[in-house]
Amino acid sequence: MGNAVTVLVVGAGPVGLSAALALAQADVDVRVVESAAGVDMRMRASTFHPPTLDMIATLGLADELVDRGLKVTRFQLRQHETRDYMTFDLAAISDATSHPYRLQIEQHQYCELAIRALEKLGIAVEFETGVESISQDDVGVSAVTGTGQIRAEWVVGADGASSAVRESLGLEYGGKTYTHSSVLVSTPFPFHEYFPDLAGVSYCWSERGPFSLLRLQNFWRASLYPGVEDLDAAADETRVRDWLAYIHPDARDAEILNSNPYRVHERCVGRFRVGRVLLAGDAAHLNPPSGGMGMNGGIHDATNLSAKLRQVLDGDDDKLLDRYDRQRRTLASERIIPQASANRARMATMDKALQLERLENHRAIAADPAANREFLLKSSMITGLREAEEIG
Ligand SMILES: Cc1cc2nc3c(=O)[nH]c(=O)nc-3n(C[C@H](O)[C@H](O)[C@H](O)COP(=O)(O)OP(=O)(O)OC[C@H]3O[C@@H](n4cnc5c(N)ncnc54)[C@H](O)[C@@H]3O)c2cc1C
Repeated sequence: MGNAVTVLVVGAGPVGLSAALALAQADVDVRVVESAAGVDMRMRASTFHPPTLDMIATLGLADELVDRGLKVTRFQLRQHETRDYMTFDLAAISDATSHPYRLQIEQHQYCELAIRALEKLGIAVEFETGVESISQDDVGVSAVTGTGQIRAEWVVGADGASSAVRESLGLEYGGKTYTHSSVLVSTPFPFHEYFPDLAGVSYCWSERGPFSLLRLQNFWRASLYPGVEDLDAAADETRVRDWLAYIHPDARDAEILNSNPYRVHERCVGRFRVGRVLLAGDAAHLNPPSGGMGMNGGIHDATNLSAKLRQVLDGDDDKLLDRYDRQRRTLASERIIPQASANRARMATMDKALQLERLENHRAIAADPAANREFLLKSSMITGLREAEEIG
């Protein structure tokens, strides 16, 4: 097809970069365009689940990522006022994954490693090159960018929640946006010194509302639900400090490294494939962050899609890409979104008696080896991946 690139990846977030690297490592001719001037350095996802790490290992990036991050094998549900808690241990699923832990590290660090790996293969991400629109015919896709037109045989739209690729396809992004905003606060405050036995991933009920504490290498990330709609109000410093002080009075004056408010959505597009254009990650589905499945699910999309694209480029029928749509869309809409939404609802109750009852229920699950295993396989996203494999 003349000067057309084989695959154009739109968006250099964790999903686009995963897809691009998997394709480039298979000697596919790939270009990656990114509208921003560099990697998004804001605090966003910071948990890599076991199967995601298994996938990242196939890209050759797991060892360095694991070296940089913090391995967390135990996670907890806690009731704040009573200090009662229960613990799950991922060691129970060590036969199902090569990485039986959650790796705590910012998503931008993964992006940086993927960009470096692409560079080693001679592919430089083209920053400040936003795609404005795309159109396609039987043999290829034309993408209009701010600096010219790019012709490609296939396009992977991994351009995030406001995807211009999805917009160009005219696809509706059905679903809902939650009324209340959330805020991610990073602080070096040593919560682990104040709460004995606090696990590196802890989901907490409190009479004031839910919060979670995730430990990274040099700081903690607190997810707070300030109960307001406006993003600026959610990140208001006084409000954030009041919340931190509720977690522990000494945290009121803690250094705040970063305070990132965001809106939570549940959305899924009706098709992940339209002809020669494939959608993946936040461009295709959005879910509440509870349980850390957004970026992880997107990297799972990228892994599934890049394997199938490679097969198609090697001569398989392109109907294989419809299977990508069926597998990943079904998983997003029937498993990931409902699971994340249930996680959020489970934590949302302000009724202390119900919080303690739920805590007790989870303690009972952890005490029953079969139920414990089922819970861990599901929350680590392994069950969903296995179910998707069954979809023809
Ligand atoms: C505050 C916050 C907290 C989160 N916490 C978690 C968590 O704890 N766990 C979890 O798993 N997930 C979490 N997520 C979700 C996670 O960050 C996303 O699911 C993940 O980044 C999706 O990756 P992506 O590559 O699909 O999209 P993005 O990371 O959004 O990347 C898309 C890229 O495309 C670029 N782009 C956009 N438009 C264009 C265009 N027209 N042309 C070219 N490039 C374009 C963008 O600049 C961006 O770099 C969180 C998200 C937010 C906002």
